[in-house]
Amino acid sequence: MSEAQAKAPRGTFDVLGQEAQARMAIEARARAILEAAGYERIETPCFEATELFARSVGEATDIVKKEMYTFTDGSGRSLTLRPEGTAPVCRAYVEHGMHKRPQPVKLWYLSSFFRYERAQKGRYRQFWQVGAEALGSDDPALDAESIQLLHRLLGELGARDLKLRLSSLGSPEARGAYREELKAHLKSREGELSEDVRGRIEANPLRAFDSEHPGTVAVMKDAPLLLGQLTAEDLAHFDQVRALLDAAEVPYEIDPTLVRGLDYYTRTVFEFTSTALGAQSGVGGGGRYDGLVQQLGGPRTPGIGWAAGIERILLAGSPPAPAPPALDLYVCVHEEGEEGDARRRAFALLWQARAAGLRAEMEMAGRALSGQLKQANRRGARFAAIVDGTATTLRDMQDGGQSEMGSEVVVHELLRRLRTLS
Ligand code: AMP
Repeated sequence: MSEAQAKAPRGTFDVLGQEAQARMAIEARARAILEAAGYERIETPCFEATELFARSVGEATDIVKKEMYTFTDGSGRSLTLRPEGTAPVCRAYVEHGMHKRPQPVKLWYLSSFFRYERAQKGRYRQFWQVGAEALGSDDPALDAESIQLLHRLLGELGARDLKLRLSSLGSPEARGAYREELKAHLKSREGELSEDVRGRIEANPLRAFDSEHPGTVAVMKDAPLLLGQLTAEDLAHFDQVRALLDAAEVPYEIDPTLVRGLDYYTRTVFEFTSTALGAQSGVGGGGRYDGLVQQLGGPRTPGIGWAAGIERILLAGSPPAPAPPALDLYVCVHEEGEEGDARRRAFALLWQARAAGLRAEMEMAGRALSGQLKQANRRGARFAAIVDGTATTLRDMQDGGQSEMGSEVVVHELLRRLRTLS
């Protein structure tokens, strides 16, 4: 492999060492919090039919227009590496007839996602998200619970300077009239808009709120706001979500310009940002998607969910990163002849120790005995077993005390000593 080939593709990275430990800690926290709230783990495939994302996320969104990794497989099907998790979860809900279960059905995932984006700090082409989706109820308590769970998770993971923005996009019917009004506003000042926003007035006018282009920002300052035009029902839903968040003491800011980049959202939308992150300040967000399951061919099923980026959580905080646990036993091989009997006995001891629940490793790099004992120290081993052609010596790595014994009693003796130590 040439030097150039020995490099991960741009926007991707290897996970190892301390970072791998920190990620495992995040997963353990997420699992504890979400499972305690009734969420079940789900894993969907890495790739799906392209149409799933095109139809749900929306043809006019950045994700579908320019960020998907799409390829054709051997039989000519168009497939796409998943850019997000909600559509696959809804697809699975329909495919497995989960509407027949008691509702709501609550599912969580921690998986990697793929978007062809401009790679920079906090923005990658393969990234990980932890996500939670609750399907089958439009109770505002589910919205508040969902938001509260993400708030708690981010808080427990040490994300700093968090801010929660909250809004409602209303129901699609009510949004129709508003879109027309917004389009008229954008068209009346078309010349001031960025090229990108101008090109999307018809297909996705709401996205103009996300633009950082100075001319567009000025036009949007005077734009009509959807939040002021919600139907009585949508408003009542939103008010209840707010009241429940107040009751749970989750602080938030109402932001009528929050639109989020995916087409399937209805009613509640929210986003957590952290000023500790710099330009890519979004840590996690989500919202309601009451039409999505039906759009994918399932029965009318409301839903709400969120996803938070693991890399952003790592950047925004100091998740607990426990050191890898030290070893109980390092098995050294002291072979004098060629016949390899010590090696066989050492290997048997390794497995007996592991079967007894001990953390054990054996020398497998051909070091001399002194090097093996050094390695046992580096690995933090509490004991070393030195196995030679005839006997086994158990060495206490802290005080250097050694005692010879028959190999059949080593594990028993080790367990006894570890018990007295703890
Ligand atoms: P979205 O589905 O775009 O709302 O993303 C949800 C969360 O995933 C964001 O708040 C980020 O934390 C994270 N995220 C989205 N895109 C990326 C990316 N390209 N690289 C890293 N994290 C991302």
